[in-house]
Amino acid sequence: MNSFSLKNSTLHAENVALNQIATEFGTPCYVYSKAALTQAFERFSAGFAGTNHLVCFAVKANPSLAILNLFAKLGAGFDIVSGGELARVLAAGGDPKKIVFSGVGKTAIEMQAALNAGIFCFNVESASELSRLNKVAGEMGKVAPVSLRVNPNVDAKTHPYISTGLKNSKFGVAYEDALNVYAQAAAMPNIAIHGVDCHIGSQITELSPFLDAFDRVLLLVDALEQQGIHIQHIDAGGGIGICYNDETPPEFTAYAAAMRTKLGNRNVKLVFEPGRALVGNAGVLLTKVEYLKPTTSKNFAIVDAAMNDLMRPALYDAYHNIQPVQPRKDGHAAVYEIVGPVCESGDFLGHDRTLTLEEGDLLAIMSAGAYGMSMSSNYNTRPRAAEVMVDGGDSHLIRKREEIADLFALEKCLPQT
Ligand SMILES: *Cc1c(COP(=O)(O)O)cnc(C)c1O
Repeated sequence: MNSFSLKNSTLHAENVALNQIATEFGTPCYVYSKAALTQAFERFSAGFAGTNHLVCFAVKANPSLAILNLFAKLGAGFDIVSGGELARVLAAGGDPKKIVFSGVGKTAIEMQAALNAGIFCFNVESASELSRLNKVAGEMGKVAPVSLRVNPNVDAKTHPYISTGLKNSKFGVAYEDALNVYAQAAAMPNIAIHGVDCHIGSQITELSPFLDAFDRVLLLVDALEQQGIHIQHIDAGGGIGICYNDETPPEFTAYAAAMRTKLGNRNVKLVFEPGRALVGNAGVLLTKVEYLKPTTSKNFAIVDAAMNDLMRPALYDAYHNIQPVQPRKDGHAAVYEIVGPVCESGDFLGHDRTLTLEEGDLLAIMSAGAYGMSMSSNYNTRPRAAEVMVDGGDSHLIRKREEIADLFALEKCLPQT
């Protein structure tokens, strides 16, 4: 099933025409499909049916309360990277006992909040963080459940900004140091060793980096067992890619089957932290063509969405397919630069797109459900877009468009003299 498809020559989200959504909620607007979100989660989980496992949605990919609430109801856990994300998950009805807390810079206040909530596990990323967590937990009379995030030193073969499992990365503990840091952890009174964690990067489109990393993690788990440190769960991280253009990421079923085979008969729970793979293709960014601007070298289509709404093209030179909501049957096609109104030459959403356009046309920037709204900003004092979730024939506003006055409501001028 494709949740975004042409019906009666108009692009729909499930059974709702995207031009209707634009009329009702304005543009730019993120539109998500509840069916696509549900299906992604269920398909990912299905691969592990019958195995002791927990799927923790990586909140940073899309922290919308409605999306978190939907996943929580489907049984998901959550991978958080800040106290803010912890608060969101709790506000959305997420189960604290299914939360893993990742990130290299957890503050003492964030640790306290997570200990108070009673989360499933801290994914500790350095020896210094381990000592601080031991101290914070000790002051609260608690014991913190931990995994060490190890850095298996495998190349995820993805964009360098989203590759996290190499030796020179700021993330995790070097593989060679892991046994030593585990021994330190074992001696700390307010730390309980529960697992081993790794996360090697994002938008990974081959199976082999996952399997190589998992092999190394399993070696470590076995070595720890020999030292009398029993590991209850392995967190294999996230990172499974999606198809933006012509990529062929691993099928969930193939990924699950390969991981289960490698795990063998070890009595260990499997934890996963997929983000992009659960939401990326479940959302589009709806935008309107404001101006067509032909120049001697290029044709620009200036749209009302920009890099502040969807940063991935500017940040990673990422490709997003761009589809007209109502494809024109006549008129002549031209090659366009699809750009936003922001004052940066990096403000583009797509290069060299052959489209038949007129001013006022609606475009859907596809595969915008992950790292779209979550990376948005107010650059150029632009209010953040509205977000809508479609459920069959119904559309629900899940985040109101920001109002301009809100954007400077926290600001103050100096006292006037
Ligand atoms: C970003 C991140 C994820 C999710 O990555 P995806 O590529 O979106 O699946 C999972 N775990 C950690 C620790 C992360 O930083």
